Amino acid sequence: MKNISILGSTGSIGTQTLDIVRNNLDLNVVAIAGNSNVELLRQQIEEFSPDIVCVYQEEKAEELRAYYKDYEVKIVSGMDGLIEAATWDSADIVLTAVVGMIGIQPTIAAIKARKTIALANKETLVCAGHIIMPLSREMGVKILPVDSEHSAIFQSLNGENPRQLEKILLTASGGPFRGWTREQMKNVKLADALNHPNWSMGKKITIDSATMVNKGLEVIEAKWLFNVPYDKIRIVVQPQSLIHSMVQFVDGGIMAQLGTPDMKLPIQYALFYPDRREMDGERVDFGKIAEITFEDPDFENFKGLVLALRAAKEGGSLPTVFNAANEYAVARFLKEEISFLDITEMIEYAMNNHEFIPNPTVEEILKIEQDTRKLLEERF
Ligand code: NAD
Ligand code: MG
Repeated sequence: MKNISILGSTGSIGTQTLDIVRNNLDLNVVAIAGNSNVELLRQQIEEFSPDIVCVYQEEKAEELRAYYKDYEVKIVSGMDGLIEAATWDSADIVLTAVVGMIGIQPTIAAIKARKTIALANKETLVCAGHIIMPLSREMGVKILPVDSEHSAIFQSLNGENPRQLEKILLTASGGPFRGWTREQMKNVKLADALNHPNWSMGKKITIDSATMVNKGLEVIEAKWLFNVPYDKIRIVVQPQSLIHSMVQFVDGGIMAQLGTPDMKLPIQYALFYPDRREMDGERVDFGKIAEITFEDPDFENFKGLVLALRAAKEGGSLPTVFNAANEYAVARFLKEEISFLDITEMIEYAMNNHEFIPNPTVEEILKIEQDTRKLLEERF
């Protein structure tokens, strides 16, 4: 039996993880956490009987507590609650699927509690990879990628010598605006940006895919997970999302992982690594694939990529500024308060108006997040 704690159980990755639990009787949910969706958390409590549930918003937690006053389920809230769910004693593995850098503190706490981490929450590594990776090594804790590209890289590296890796070929679909100019993107509506060609995901990452900021975040995520310098990571646009990523070795050989675009495979792979389990679902039918094509990324029209690579190369506190500004801007875009191109304008403004810190602590990272929000609130 494997006991699992799911941070972000009400989201896209969280609910797909629970589907996997339904199909594998040796997985047991001991902790779940969400932001505010009490209705769905209640269904999850009834079905999976976790020991502890975190509802981040205190008044929503209160609602749930009132409902379950005679039941044996501990209901907690806020950051302390999230950390308690992440470090729950009986949990063997913590699946981090909250959205955004809110995941930093619970992830660090879980590593310190020696929990295996199945990591979907890329923003955490982007901001705090320089703290998390050394800490995980020190604690002897595995960080298993859930992001499809990183899972593909991880699977392609199976049994290989990491020193013989020449390049990571990180694939990208290009999103709904692939081939568009900035001029064409000026009047993009929220609904257009939410309409991803291949993947069904939470709203924030769907917008990140439309701006290509997601690929930028993934470059930084790959650097930390696989301990490679940036000049060894190349983005390859592959619009059909059939190849989930590739690795090239020193002899020129390339290994790739392919599959239908379904997050259940990378989630399940992380939960049972190094085992593979049966999984129903669509299979790739090579007779039906009309074509598979490749392009270089469009750095001219997708400023988010350029800014991400700048943040990546300069390092230190800049990836946090990049990420915090993006989280703030995407939240505003989702409320239809700013235009699509404003997202990258805001990121650029924040990056240009930041005092660089070479090796920020967790406290400094959280402070930069606040400062970045304040800066953007004042300016836009
Ligand atoms: P989502 O918006 O569907 O779900 C986010 C989850 O986080 C929800 O359960 C929400 O309640 C929870 N949450 C948000 N703020 C919280 C808080 N303060 N405290 C506790 N819980 C909180 O997002 P998603 O698409 O599932 O993405 C989750 C993470 O996984 C993101 O970092 C994303 O980049 C990454 N990811 C997602 C996909 C995908 O297919 N959806 C693929 C790769 C990586
Ligand atoms: Mg991805």
